[in-house]
Amino acid sequence: MSEYKAALERFRDRIPADVDALLVTEITNVGWLTGFTGTSGKVILGRDEAVFLTDSRYTLQADEQVSNMDVATYATPVRDEEFLATHLARLGVKRLGFDSTMVTVAQLDNWREKVADVEWVPAKEAYANLRSVKFEYEIERVRRACELADATFSHVQRMLQPGVTEEAIALDIEFFMRRHGAKVAFESIVVSGERSARPHGVPSSKPLEVGDFVTMDFGAWLDGYNSDITRTVVIGEATDRHREIYNQVLRANVECIEFIKPGMTGHDVDTRAREILNELDLGQYFGHGLGHGLGRLVHDSGRLGQNCLDVIEVGQIWTIEPGVYIPGFGGVRVEDDIVIRENGVEVLTSSPKDFLVLGG
Ligand code: ZN
Ligand code: ZN
Repeated sequence: MSEYKAALERFRDRIPADVDALLVTEITNVGWLTGFTGTSGKVILGRDEAVFLTDSRYTLQADEQVSNMDVATYATPVRDEEFLATHLARLGVKRLGFDSTMVTVAQLDNWREKVADVEWVPAKEAYANLRSVKFEYEIERVRRACELADATFSHVQRMLQPGVTEEAIALDIEFFMRRHGAKVAFESIVVSGERSARPHGVPSSKPLEVGDFVTMDFGAWLDGYNSDITRTVVIGEATDRHREIYNQVLRANVECIEFIKPGMTGHDVDTRAREILNELDLGQYFGHGLGHGLGRLVHDSGRLGQNCLDVIEVGQIWTIEPGVYIPGFGGVRVEDDIVIRENGVEVLTSSPKDFLVLGG
């Protein structure tokens, strides 16, 4: 497929001048580069040649999925390192770059011992933020994962009433996604009442009660790409305090989506969220960053936060997820997924986010 040609070209442009080839071992990068969806395989990426290496468990799958480079597979009694050494020798690779942020010391020692004809060169810059700016076909896949997340939120609303447990809601989210050909992108977060003050709480057997905030954070993993959305509603009956906190978090979400622009840093956008929350002295309850990159991984490269100098670029996908968590009271988070475009921001998630009281 032509889409993986673009990935191949982008990666090739990153081969440093002082190496003959790069070794791609991190499976998320391997999938992004080749279209392979298995869990074991690597690529030798040279300037003119590239080869995908895997073992016999994946021979048929690799032949079917990988079309932008040669595929080579090995079987017992050939060993992984031996096979790698053979192909490096065939391609004339003398100096090989590797991702020093991902390769363990033990793995490197092993390679240096068993693939000794090659000089192993740390080349982490070649891999850094490689997938951060998305190709249009990637945005399309995240869009579809977002549409399924929106459909899930719409479906699960009938469950949001007193007596239904957090676990039952999480299970319903998972069922709905699996019935629609996806998997959950991560273990869904469903927390209610005082438990909603746990930003990454695990669903429990606690039933929803009147006056609870319920925060649901979930996403779909579909065709290799993820969505990630959070909505908070109130059960039965809301107080002014619920309304006030919710609406301020919502403002931070909406205004940061309007504010974010190419050339800003993750720090700039995060700071805007804190300014808005601090109008009601709520910044002290916002302990995590404003967002993260999204794509093949739920937490893809890039962060929006106080210490983040990552630069916002056209084609990146970000989450915008301000939250306020007050111990003993509860918490609110509103999370959307967005694409940075030339002429502004495209919001991929479209679930309603006005203050909502359900199950009265
Ligand atoms: Zn989330
Ligand atoms: Zn998120």
